[in-house]
Amino acid sequence: MTSYDYDYFVIGAGSGGVRSSRIAAGHGVKVGIAEAANLGGTCVNVGCVPKKLLAYASDFGPAIQDAKGFGWKIDNVTFDWGTLIANKDIEISRLNGIYETILKNAGVDLIRGYAKFVDAHKLDIDGKIVTADKIMIATGGKPRKPSYKGAEHAIVSDDAFYLKELPKHVVIEGAGYIGVEFAHIFHGMGSKVTLIHRGDQILRGFDQEIRDFLALEIKKQGIKIILDTNIDEITQKNEKKHVKTDHNDVIECDLVLSAIGRVPYTQNLGLDNAKIAHKENGQIIVNEDYQTNIPHIYAVGDVTDRVQLTPVAIAEGHVLADRLFNNQPERMVSYNNIATAVFSNPPIGNVGLTEENARKKYSNIRCFTANFKPMIHTLSGRDERTFMKLVVDQDTDIVVGAHICGRDAPEMMQAIGIAVNCKATKADFDRTIGIHPTSAEEFVTMRS
Ligand code: FAD
Ligand code: NDP
Repeated sequence: MTSYDYDYFVIGAGSGGVRSSRIAAGHGVKVGIAEAANLGGTCVNVGCVPKKLLAYASDFGPAIQDAKGFGWKIDNVTFDWGTLIANKDIEISRLNGIYETILKNAGVDLIRGYAKFVDAHKLDIDGKIVTADKIMIATGGKPRKPSYKGAEHAIVSDDAFYLKELPKHVVIEGAGYIGVEFAHIFHGMGSKVTLIHRGDQILRGFDQEIRDFLALEIKKQGIKIILDTNIDEITQKNEKKHVKTDHNDVIECDLVLSAIGRVPYTQNLGLDNAKIAHKENGQIIVNEDYQTNIPHIYAVGDVTDRVQLTPVAIAEGHVLADRLFNNQPERMVSYNNIATAVFSNPPIGNVGLTEENARKKYSNIRCFTANFKPMIHTLSGRDERTFMKLVVDQDTDIVVGAHICGRDAPEMMQAIGIAVNCKATKADFDRTIGIHPTSAEEFVTMRS
């Protein structure tokens, strides 16, 4: 029988890889993991965590203004980008250390370096050769780079976390999660923000009323949204960037952030050396057991280009380790009703079907909505509203979708997600007594 250095070797110590290797080691097998960059992957280093810290920083901008209506005297308030980035970096380093401890305590061998397949059981990690019985690819994704003339003058989200100074005017290309979240981040700190999007409304795939509502709210704040427009060219003129659109407009700004999606990170992984099937964009093709066409090679998370969310990568990595090494073939990830959030201002929380998709799936849909000024803005004077929506299949009374755009939406939506996953009916929502005074209580009082 062939013997290998490891029973299970994971490539990439990000969300999916760390969880899978740790759980597998806990099941008693010999596990190794390779990481080319900082531990924790996209989420910890250039994703969810630093993004949320920057979004918190940004929230203080309007909150300080809102405090005036509550009697606070706010004079000479200044913001220092350098302090924020330095403090963020300290926190990220702390998390990198925690990930190292987690792997060490679990007994996982960490090999620092870039792993490349030599063949289907052998990897070259910056010159060190390791062999493994089973290999799991969790190499995540990278920002997609634009290809128009002057694209080198645009940055991507990875760079945005390390800017030396806060730009005065930022043009953001793309109005998906990252574009919309960074529009909030920069605007809240005082930058002028112009969002350029090729489609007819921001956040394609979200409920149409939510998209329209958020677009209206952020426009009221002063964020400029330019729709049905592409960037043709960027030129650098002295310290400024000139963004030429396909409508022949030229926008002068200090920074262009391109946020046009992500691509799987497999370009130099040597997939062909192991004959691993992949799509043209590098996406690794897996079956529902996370297995590639090579039966002992698996893949989870963003590299499979399905649902690009940290909790999904973690769940997939965990389930795979349980199936392979704890004799639990029945373990499954539930992809139904995954609640997500956009950390915009106001933020979005959503779970289940949009009204548009529900109408395609069911013949008898009824929607309930609430649109109101949250209590805090009665004194703050801010012209900001909250919008909530329940999508109900009238034949069964089951709530098949819930959507919020308003303060605390992500926090509310996690709990609503449980109710929707439990197939709660509208009658269940209605008989639940609200918590007063909150915005969330609207969910149990919606009648129209
Ligand atoms: P990753 O976490 O990307 O880990 C892959 C790791 O593999 C990396 O550390 C990489 O260096 C390493 N690697 C790659 N190739 C090799 C190699 N050949 N050898 C060795 N190591 C290698 N998701 C949410 O759920 N909520 C959010 O709020 C959220 N915000 C985000 C904000 C931004 C700006 C971005 C970019 C993403 C955000 N995401 C968010 C998505 C989330 O970060 C990803 O879905 C998640 O990190 C995917 O985990 P993963 O394990 O598949 O890959
Ligand atoms: P998204 O897919 O969310 O959005 C990409 C945006 O770029 C869309 O507006 C898209 O337009 C546009 N676009 C795509 N290709 C082009 C092109 N060639 N030229 C011009 N515009 C283009 O990707 P993001 O980069 O924003 O985020 C990647 C993923 O990371 C998300 O899908 C999400 O899964 C995850 N993420 C999650 C977050 C969270 O949970 N809060 C936060 C950040 C990221 P169109 O709509 O027309 O396709």
